[in-house]
Amino acid sequence: MIPNGYTQEQEDIRAAVRELCAGFPIEYWRTADRARAYPDEFVNALTKAGWLAAMVPEEYGGAGLGVMEGGLILQEINASGGSAGPCHAQMYTMGTVLRHGSEEQKKRYLPAIAEGSLRLQSFGVTEPDAGSDTTNISTFAKKQGNKYVINGRKVFISRVQHTDLILLLARTTPKDQVARKTEGLSVFLVDVRDAGDRLIVRPIETMLNHETNELTFDGLEVPEENLIGEEGRGLRYILSGMNAERVLIASESLGDGYYFTERSTKYASERIVFDRPIGQNQGVQFPIAEAYTLIEAARLMRDAAARRFDAGDARGDEANMAKYLASEAAWKAANAALVTFGGYGFTTEFGIERKFREARLQMTAPVSNNLILSYVGEHILGMPRSY
Ligand SMILES: Cc1cc2nc3c(=O)[nH]c(=O)nc-3n(C[C@H](O)[C@H](O)[C@H](O)COP(=O)(O)OP(=O)(O)OC[C@H]3O[C@@H](n4cnc5c(N)ncnc54)[C@H](O)[C@@H]3O)c2cc1C
Repeated sequence: MIPNGYTQEQEDIRAAVRELCAGFPIEYWRTADRARAYPDEFVNALTKAGWLAAMVPEEYGGAGLGVMEGGLILQEINASGGSAGPCHAQMYTMGTVLRHGSEEQKKRYLPAIAEGSLRLQSFGVTEPDAGSDTTNISTFAKKQGNKYVINGRKVFISRVQHTDLILLLARTTPKDQVARKTEGLSVFLVDVRDAGDRLIVRPIETMLNHETNELTFDGLEVPEENLIGEEGRGLRYILSGMNAERVLIASESLGDGYYFTERSTKYASERIVFDRPIGQNQGVQFPIAEAYTLIEAARLMRDAAARRFDAGDARGDEANMAKYLASEAAWKAANAALVTFGGYGFTTEFGIERKFREARLQMTAPVSNNLILSYVGEHILGMPRSY
């Protein structure tokens, strides 16, 4: 094995998360997947153990750990065969409040998030008519006295049924009235509990058990104290959290990759066909070995990205490349697992087909790999902007 260079504390965190996850075996996730149910017991156990508050600073009741530790936590969840998707958002949405919220907002929200009495699990950016072109969103928050009135539509907003707050991006100045299209966008904390019929939530069925929704805001009033930072500067606040998000998502993909290669290696060594283990055949062995090689390379990039982020460096080169490499490597590993398991890979019993569906998501969301490549082309290689 390649020496990973993690500290004893980081190894202890990995071991503790692994132990917690052992209480939620493949059958647990299969049952939740079949019922399209939220894994409440798992998320509660994770919250109770404090892992979801890992990145909240100690002064606000969290563990004060970095994105490296946050990433290792999510990696271990996915490597165990589980899915961090139902609860990962809090780790990065919290960062926007931490970095750009007022002291009053931090005191009001962060300790409650850390102790698990308040959930900030939803992140509302994507819109049907804007897609990846975020500056083109049209959900509008109009200032009226001491409140904002929100109208508009969002799509693919996850975990709305399992959150108290949504971190919402909306326009506060129309696009044609700003000097640069990145201006005039603002971030709000929207309390779902107070929304009533001003917020219509329509679940969207997808190929995986990842609760996501279309939202319609119909004159929803939000108090002005729920605006994060300054009006009009919201996009920059959202973007400042993106590198952390990339590292965390890359970590989930790494976990998926380790899950597939571990399961494939074991099965390939045990399954006898033509009087020998199938793993003796290069057609079975090499795809697993190739996927593992790519996963380890992606892990080194993730580690470099996490260390850069935790050192306070805002540049996102490694974070973007880690998200790309890890999601592509996990997908390789997923396909190698289907080669290895043959027909059994398609059955729900073996725990491959569910993870196969889940592992594909990270290539598209929260940002598609095409847009990652356009970051690399433009910001690292210096080619013309492609959009
Ligand atoms: C299960 C799920 C959960 C999600 N959860 C959330 C959430 O909680 N909050 C949230 O805000 N969003 C969420 N999303 C939305 C997700 O972030 C978007 O789906 C994603 O960013 C892509 O946007 P889009 O689907 O509108 O695709 P589009 O922008 O319509 O793009 C379609 C395709 O065209 C490609 N493309 C577009 N423009 C270019 C270009 N200039 N160059 C090259 N290729 C291009 C894209 O890469 C993509 O492959 C979720 C999505 C899914 C599927």
